[in-house]
Amino acid sequence: MAVREVLKMGHPTLRVKAEPVSESEIQSKEFKDLVADMFETMKAEEGIGIAAPQIGVSKQVAIVGVPKDNPRYPDAPENEEEPELDFDILVVINPTISVVDDTPSGFWEGCLSVPGLRGYVERPSKIKVDYTDIQGEKQSMVASGFAATVFQHELDHLDGVLYVDRVADKNKLAFMDEYLEYHDQEEEE
Ligand code: ZN
Repeated sequence: MAVREVLKMGHPTLRVKAEPVSESEIQSKEFKDLVADMFETMKAEEGIGIAAPQIGVSKQVAIVGVPKDNPRYPDAPENEEEPELDFDILVVINPTISVVDDTPSGFWEGCLSVPGLRGYVERPSKIKVDYTDIQGEKQSMVASGFAATVFQHELDHLDGVLYVDRVADKNKLAFMDEYLEYHDQEEEE
């Protein structure tokens, strides 16, 4: 296992749709090693999620975390509405998202591939994710609130989309210091 380099915005691999992972591939040592490297890299960078394209592998696999005590997201809300989401971290393979509630829910997002910036993004507040798990079993999960945003952010990476694409109000795209000084206490609309 190894901490891998995280690709930064501008790298073309971050902008292409990732390839689906086959059933046999999920069982391969290479794939387990890839997921292990994603875990190590995410942990080293203190991320709350990571997608394979971010370490240069254009495959449809992402790790999604529900932040607890993450130093990069000290104010992340607890996922109170979905107590069945009792995981800390989840590996999702070949995911598809459907919207359960399209009422917009906005959070300030960050990304390991866009270091030093934060941006305010509104996304559907409740979603269902169908995916294959690390054992190769089909699963589905409903997520709302901040967890729904983390899922949508990571799964966007598998479509070549970055959160900055979804910042509607460019006044709400900021460097970290400016975010903390001018935007951190803003009321959410
Ligand atoms: Zn990201």
